[in-house]
Amino acid sequence: KKEHEIMVRNIAAQAAIALDNSQLFEKVKSLSEKKDEFIALASHELKTPLTTIKGYLQFLENKIEEPRIKLFLTKTLDQANRLNNLIDDLLNMSRIEAGKLQFNYERFDIKELLQEMCETFNYTEGSHQLISDFGDDPVYVKADKQRIEQVLNNLLNNAEKYSPNADKIYLKLKNDDKKATVTVEDEGLGLTPEQQQMVFSRFYRAESTKGINGLGLGLYLTKQIIDSHSGELAVKSEEGKGSEFYFSLPLDL
Ligand code: ADP
Repeated sequence: KKEHEIMVRNIAAQAAIALDNSQLFEKVKSLSEKKDEFIALASHELKTPLTTIKGYLQFLENKIEEPRIKLFLTKTLDQANRLNNLIDDLLNMSRIEAGKLQFNYERFDIKELLQEMCETFNYTEGSHQLISDFGDDPVYVKADKQRIEQVLNNLLNNAEKYSPNADKIYLKLKNDDKKATVTVEDEGLGLTPEQQQMVFSRFYRAESTKGINGLGLGLYLTKQIIDSHSGELAVKSEEGKGSEFYFSLPLDL
């Protein structure tokens, strides 16, 4: 009988702990949701005035002839765009957490998108030259074009940011009969095998690159976007030599 009583008491104690844990879990979950809501709200509020600022800056940049002032305006606009991208990252992160990231799928030629982006990249003032290798034929995918553009911008900006002593970046497109694969290659700082494992986690930033600014959200978002397209995203890298980030998307035949 005594054994029985001890058993019942043990079960009751375990049940109490489980209840406590589940209440704690609910509390943490609700706090975490509040945090994401706050980030979403704050990012949205920050974006509104920034859009107006960008509009006026663009107008002035087009109107002003004086080269020095024009240069200052271009630089200010670049920084405003950077700020805008950071806010977008935060906004997208909170949407992912809330399961609210939406996609508009359409059929398009990814080669054409890459060509356009390559031109813009090489036209925009920057220290790196983007070298392309796309093959001859169009490559059709069914995807959210804007999101894929965002993925490419992330990878290209990273390649530039994390290769301060190099001057070239390589952008390649290949396909087999099932999928298209895009590769962004740099000759920069590179990553150790341990860092490569962590690189797609939220807020992760490799110790060796902490001197370069960033939030550690770009690759996390990139991964979520590619996963949602039933694609694959991966990295090959060697410390001190450079990195190769590549993603594949199913073809739309
Ligand atoms: P951020 O660049 O804002 O830090 P990301 O999520 O894009 O955020 O990247 C996460 C981390 O991965 C970076 O902080 C950097 O340490 C590492 N990383 C990303 N791309 C590269 C690259 N091309 N070469 C070396 N390290 C990289």
